[in-house]
Amino acid sequence: MPPFDQRIPKHDLSSGALAPLYEQVLRRNPGEDEFHQAVREVLETLAPVFAQRPEYLEGKLVERLCEPERQLIFRVPWMDDTGEVHVNRGFRVEFNSALGPYKGGLRFHPSVNLGIVKFLGFEQVFKNALTGMPIGGGKGGSDFDPKDRSDAEVMRFCQSFMTELYRHLGEYTDVPAGDIGVGGREIGYLFGQYRRITGRHESGVLTGKGLSWGGARARTEATGYGCVLFTEQMLRTRGRSLEGMRVVVSGSGNVAIYAAQKAQQLGAKVISCSDSSGAVVDEGGLDVELLQQVKEVERGRIAEYAERRGAQAKFLPGGTVWQIPCDVALPCATQNELGEQDAVALVNGGVQAVAEGANMPTTPEAVRVLREAGIAFGPGKAANAGGVATSALEMQQNASRDSWTFEYTEQRLAEIMRHVHDSSFETAERYGHPGDLVVGANAAGFEVVAEAMHAQGLI
Ligand code: NDP
Repeated sequence: MPPFDQRIPKHDLSSGALAPLYEQVLRRNPGEDEFHQAVREVLETLAPVFAQRPEYLEGKLVERLCEPERQLIFRVPWMDDTGEVHVNRGFRVEFNSALGPYKGGLRFHPSVNLGIVKFLGFEQVFKNALTGMPIGGGKGGSDFDPKDRSDAEVMRFCQSFMTELYRHLGEYTDVPAGDIGVGGREIGYLFGQYRRITGRHESGVLTGKGLSWGGARARTEATGYGCVLFTEQMLRTRGRSLEGMRVVVSGSGNVAIYAAQKAQQLGAKVISCSDSSGAVVDEGGLDVELLQQVKEVERGRIAEYAERRGAQAKFLPGGTVWQIPCDVALPCATQNELGEQDAVALVNGGVQAVAEGANMPTTPEAVRVLREAGIAFGPGKAANAGGVATSALEMQQNASRDSWTFEYTEQRLAEIMRHVHDSSFETAERYGHPGDLVVGANAAGFEVVAEAMHAQGLI
């Protein structure tokens, strides 16, 4: 492998061709910090692309890419079990459909606002392009908090949410899936309401469905598994593998659980995971079955996992996994959860690779620390693309009324993750930044979308 290039390409956004564009993004989208951060990160790292291919700056193509095709905001009224009425806000940002129907998850979390949905939608456009599959980018959600709500309350909320959203969806227009706070239960309620309103069993309209009504095997596992398969590819280019490595995973939701499971299958020892109340350290290696029982079945807290493990595990209230010396760190919870000091702690603790299972979990300052230390870094657009890619495989099965085995689907996922890794790796090399997967993933995704938009005229 050529030596890792530690120089960080920088397109100076305070002057030059992109300055007025970024200024416009800030002006048009006031207060949307996460969206600004996502746009900035992409524009800065595309400097080598614009230097070699100045035609991409023509026709306001980059301006068009930064402006969603459509942004929907709607009222979601619902009644709780005591009869009290609540009013939440629903969002769907249909960002770019040059490559296919809008595709991207729904997030239910009290922190959700338009800026967060836009940052997620923007990232999704490049990620989906990187998979090589025919899917555009979108994202949605609500500031509804499903935590501590009964199944009946979650169902009433989902029904109300879909009563507005259904008119914008369709297997050829917009196909949502899950994200934080939206799993199999929520997808079930959403799909049921869509079917009732439209009178159609249109299985390709949502992904992450149950297996008996159009779901795909391995979709539940796909994001976490894909992230670990991507990590294995990164390590391979450095002549290493996950075998025997100590791994920490943040979060304990869908992505975290299956990242931990796959890492263990590949011979690593996963010693820590977390939730928003703290971290657990389990030096003997996480008991993933127990974790699934506590988090997926009982919807409990990570502290309860530690309690059930007894002397094996220790709960650190308010703690994070970044303080624990490890070889590999997989941030799998939420945006901006791994800051500069956390990155310093990881480097001091001997970390060799960091791959983002979550979307934008590493702050720009932390990314800088990791890159300058020469740590292998897999950005979310590439490392967590396995989830959406397997959603596209679910759409493929729905369209052909087929149902693949777990083994076959996992094999397809592995091929896709290899493609995502290799195209990011090769693109980074082509633009003179060998080994830099941030440049590689952004540039490879950008090229695909830019070519499609250029070919389709002024859209
Ligand atoms: P889940 O809701 O299943 O799990 C989220 C986990 O993150 C929970 O353990 C949660 O803990 C923790 N968490 C959430 N917010 C915070 C916070 N502010 N601080 C600390 N921990 C927090 O979500 P997913 O696993 O589906 O999603 C996780 C990440 O992966 C997100 O960034 C999502 O966008 C991304 N992603 C998900 C995909 C998927 O297929 N599901 C696909 C691609 C990316 P607590 O319960 O305490 O809130």
